[in-house]
Amino acid sequence: MSRTILVFDVDGTLTPARQGISPEMTAFLAETRRKLPLAVVGGSDLRKITEQLAKDHEHLLSLFDYVFSENGLVGYKGTEIYPSQTIQSVLGEQRLQEVINYALRYFSELTLPVKRGNFIEFRKGMLNLSPIGRSCSQSERDGFVAFDNEHKIREKFAAKLREKFSDYGLSFAIGGEISVDVFPTGWDKTYCLKYFESDFDTIHFFGDRTQPGGNDHEIFADPRTVGHTVKGPADTIRQVSEVLESLKLSQ
Ligand SMILES: [Mg+2]
Repeated sequence: MSRTILVFDVDGTLTPARQGISPEMTAFLAETRRKLPLAVVGGSDLRKITEQLAKDHEHLLSLFDYVFSENGLVGYKGTEIYPSQTIQSVLGEQRLQEVINYALRYFSELTLPVKRGNFIEFRKGMLNLSPIGRSCSQSERDGFVAFDNEHKIREKFAAKLREKFSDYGLSFAIGGEISVDVFPTGWDKTYCLKYFESDFDTIHFFGDRTQPGGNDHEIFADPRTVGHTVKGPADTIRQVSEVLESLKLSQ
């Protein structure tokens, strides 16, 4: 038996962005897991990932062999939790506030179709900076996506952050649909690999934002993984099926 594991992004890979998993995908994963171990690595916090993928926390942990939220800053093997680090412990309060203050100033000078609340979400391993604010509705979010595609709001913001804080040891990634993620360099999705890389010969990763600047790029391009770019949940099922077929596990 070859030691192979399948690792999945959440948004745009197992589920439509920000939405719940379909019964079809849940059944497909359960079937696949009879053949290979599965891991999930999301950028969101555990509460959000649980909401998207499962009925509750215990249920989520029962669906995968490994569950990683916040890129692996919070991680579980089965029901066992790994110790975690925080962004404030490595960056320090002063630098942290400089980044926060810069972002708030920058946002204050933007005019968008709408602005809502929760512009800065503080997570264990990252700051999630959203020009529209994370408390926007789904339709407001959709409006921002179209506006951002046209005006490159996040791209310009991320470029400014990179320029301004070039010596802070931080990475700035365009994450999801409405935000820019800020985290210590190396605390991207590759962070989770250290927990299981030595247990497997082949690590397949499936994600939708695999282009440079996307939040799946580093793990996708990492020499420790075989990267797959997916267009959405249906494409994930198709590509996983191909992998199973190539391993002669399709029955
Ligand atoms: Mg994604």
